[in-house]
Amino acid sequence: MSRTIVLASRNVKKTHEVAELLAPAGFTVVPVTEFPNVPEVEEDGDTFAANAAKKATEVAIALGQWVIGEDSGLRVDALNGAPGIYSARYSGPDATDEENNVKLISDLADIPEDRRGAGYVCSVALSNPQGEVKVAVEGTCRGRILSEAHGAGGFGYDPYFLIREFHRTFGELSPLVKRKLSHRARAFARFIPLLQKIADEFQEQPSS
Ligand code: IMP
Repeated sequence: MSRTIVLASRNVKKTHEVAELLAPAGFTVVPVTEFPNVPEVEEDGDTFAANAAKKATEVAIALGQWVIGEDSGLRVDALNGAPGIYSARYSGPDATDEENNVKLISDLADIPEDRRGAGYVCSVALSNPQGEVKVAVEGTCRGRILSEAHGAGGFGYDPYFLIREFHRTFGELSPLVKRKLSHRARAFARFIPLLQKIADEFQEQPSS
C-alpha cells in the first residue's frame, strides 16, 4: 500500500530526490505545485529548521493535510557559514544554480584548497493539518568546494561539492550514492521511521 504525502517544495530536482528517498518506505510524494491555490511560503526564518517548519505548517494549514517541509543549503567554513539559509538566492532573488555557483567560486577565489571545507545541511519538518510540527530532524554532509565543476548530476552546488572519501563530486557520483550519503539522505533516514509511526497512528492521514 502506498500512502501519499505533500512536500512543501517548488524545487523539481529536490522534490525528485525526496520522492526517491520516501518511495522505499511506501510514501508517494505530491509536490505543493499540484495545488495552484496554495500561496508561496516566504522563507524568512533565521535557521534551516525554522524555514522547514514554516513551509510545512503554512502549507498544511492551507491544505488541511499532513505536510513535509524541507529546507537545505550549503555552509562554507571560510565564508563563516555562507551562503547558508540563502543558498537558493545567494547571487540574487531569482538566481539560477549557475549564477549561485559563479558567485560561490568567485568568493572563494583566494582560499586555498585545504581551507575550502563545507557542509550541506538538510532540515525536515512534518506538520499536522492544524499547523503543529510533530517531527523535526536534521542531516549534514561534509565535503570540500572545488574551483571547477565536475559532472552534471544532482543540482545546485553539487558539481563543486567534493566528497573526500570518493574523490568525486555529487555532480559525478551516481544518484544512488547521493541517496546514501547526502545531508538529505541522512535527514530522511531519521525522519522516515517517525513518519511511519505517525502514519500508522492516523490511519486516515496521511494516506491515499
Ligand atoms: P531551499 O529550496 O530554500 O531549501 O534551498 C535549497 C538550496 O540549497 C538549493 O537551491 C541549492 O542551492 C542548495 N542545496 C540544497 N540541497 C542541495 C543539494 O543536495 N545539492 C546542491 N545544492 C543544494
